[in-house]
Amino acid sequence: MAKTSSLKKYQSKRDFKKTSEPRGKRGKSNSEPIFVIQKHDATSLHYDFRLEVDGVLKSWAVPKGPSTNPREKRLAVPTEDHPMEYAGFEGVIPEGEYGGGPVIVWDNGTYRNTTEHKGEPVPMNQALDRGHATFELEGHKLQGEWALTRAHVGGGNRWLLVKMKDSAADARRKLVSSEPESVISGRTIEQVESEE
Ligand code: MN
Repeated sequence: MAKTSSLKKYQSKRDFKKTSEPRGKRGKSNSEPIFVIQKHDATSLHYDFRLEVDGVLKSWAVPKGPSTNPREKRLAVPTEDHPMEYAGFEGVIPEGEYGGGPVIVWDNGTYRNTTEHKGEPVPMNQALDRGHATFELEGHKLQGEWALTRAHVGGGNRWLLVKMKDSAADARRKLVSSEPESVISGRTIEQVESEE
């Protein structure tokens, strides 16, 4: 993965004269790495799960959103790296533009990489290259340890996002439906769509 060109794909897909999304450059958060989950109603509704790794946001589209039930494995389809500023983006991408539709910041916070291999800690970029990472989320909605694992299902590059068993696991909590609002504005995706 060429680090310098990591955002080229992101930038090439967008016309920054038309969309209010950030053009973006590599950056770094102040202390702990961040995560963000953006609810995005584009061609189809999905949740964009993003983790800060080496100055960019590694990204996956999760159609059903995360589940706190460790038995529910959620499909996560890798998408292009996004710039760090994207973590604060909430608004409407114009119709006809790439990803056109409303976006809200559904959850955000920091994470701690807990990936180990043979008892040794594995840096996040290596963990993702190898296809398996575990991390502890400290978000408003999501907490505890989660796993992202590459799974060759259906022939494509597909990953699974799964809650690991710990005190934050909860098979009954349906947070995608019970907590639909943005954690930065309190707005629902429908409100963002109608207000902008
Ligand atoms: Mn998206």
